[in-house]
Amino acid sequence: MQTVSKMGLSKLTKLSPVHPFIFEGLPVRGFLVQMHETWTEILSRRRLNPETGEYPKPVRDLLGEMTAAAVLLQSNIRFDGALILQIWGDGPVKVAMVEVQPDLRVRATAKVVGEISDNARLSQLINLHHQGRCSITYDPQNRQPGQQPYQGVVPLERDNGLSYERFSEILEQYMRRSEQLDTTIVLAADDVCCAGILIQRMPIKGRDNLGGEQLVAEQDAMDLNEDYNRISILTNSLTTKELLTLKSEEILHRLFWEERVTHLTPKEDSGAAATLAPYFGCTCSRARVGSMIQGLGLEEAQSILDERERIDVSCDFCGANYLFDAVDTAQLFNHQVLQPPAPDVLQ
Ligand SMILES: [Zn+2]
Repeated sequence: MQTVSKMGLSKLTKLSPVHPFIFEGLPVRGFLVQMHETWTEILSRRRLNPETGEYPKPVRDLLGEMTAAAVLLQSNIRFDGALILQIWGDGPVKVAMVEVQPDLRVRATAKVVGEISDNARLSQLINLHHQGRCSITYDPQNRQPGQQPYQGVVPLERDNGLSYERFSEILEQYMRRSEQLDTTIVLAADDVCCAGILIQRMPIKGRDNLGGEQLVAEQDAMDLNEDYNRISILTNSLTTKELLTLKSEEILHRLFWEERVTHLTPKEDSGAAATLAPYFGCTCSRARVGSMIQGLGLEEAQSILDERERIDVSCDFCGANYLFDAVDTAQLFNHQVLQPPAPDVLQ
């Protein structure tokens, strides 16, 4: 990373789409992202899918917030593989999923069952019977045979059984539980933009994040909690409208004009996720759908063919359609040993 300005944002013409920054002298860093084209592409793919039609508004907003959050997490961690943020709901939203590749290629989808009113609360969408879960999966790019992706899972409610009504709170809980990192996240989405800001307290003295309570005690002693708490409160003062409509530089100036913020611009050649702009892209392919059909087994595939004459699979993420007739399907199973195994279950 390269520092571009320590004197404020007036020197900057334009911030990168995923903008990293740090607070001078404090172990606190942040990322801000606003997505327009990527998000409207995801929404229009859904709208054009004749099987589903567009998302109900509360689902759209949830998926937009998840999309912004997944890009922030991938930028923050710079994981060399796919980051998959997922909700397993027990209400009308059965699954909501966002996948972000290391180059910030993004795809997202949600499976919706039943009617949803425009003012449905988050818990009514995904945690109706207290069984909902949120998971973050890190799937390495060159996964070895037998190697499992790393996955962390948290419930969608507090220890006292009260459901979270903001997705950002679920993620903050995840970061505290799974990563032992204090994180403040503000997210927002509408029909043209999804956006988010993430503030995180970094481990100090070169230690990793395993310090836990001792680390917090140390930082308390150094008055650093106070600094983090102040920055966290400032961050939480950001309104949905501001996050969705103001320019990045304006947002950061309004929030932190009294703080010493250093804006970072990653070098073009560093390969870090933060150098890149998010973009929509699907990883589905005919070969992967073929592998999925092989996974069903010959008997199951044959019974679908008996019923409908062909196997018709459409991708939930991008709407692409894959057709396998009896000949295609026979070839899949005749040459099964020659087919590469499916990289994962996500098509
Ligand atoms: Zn696709």
